Amino acid sequence: MPRRCDRNRKRSKRRAIFCPIHGCYLDSASPKYPLYTDQPGKLQQKGVSRRDALILIASQTAIPLTGEWLEAFWCKHCQDIKWYHVQKYERVYKVTLAPPELWQQAMGTVPLDGNPSVSEYTRKQSKMLTFRS
Ligand SMILES: [Zn+2]
Repeated sequence: MPRRCDRNRKRSKRRAIFCPIHGCYLDSASPKYPLYTDQPGKLQQKGVSRRDALILIASQTAIPLTGEWLEAFWCKHCQDIKWYHVQKYERVYKVTLAPPELWQQAMGTVPLDGNPSVSEYTRKQSKMLTFRS
């Protein structure tokens, strides 16, 4: 039944992500840009043991953070598209405005100001491996 599939897809598309200022639904305006870390403490917060965290960072340099990403959203009350740092816990989304330093953690993104370092990006990307906790 294609019609039912379409409806399901539409419903699941709207995630419970709300404007931190207005509390209204935000409409996604970009793909998700995953965040990476090179700090074992960050991985330990995600439930990875210290030993595993140290091994992962030693072997891969930059580890993707599960359940965290950067994404642009349109808010009809803000009348603006802004970049948010999204953290997903279970089925709850927490959104905060993305500070510029997060851009350096995100792969494939261009910082809002300053010069993107292309060579840095390629170097990290070449070392990128998928990590699942
Ligand atoms: Zn708003």
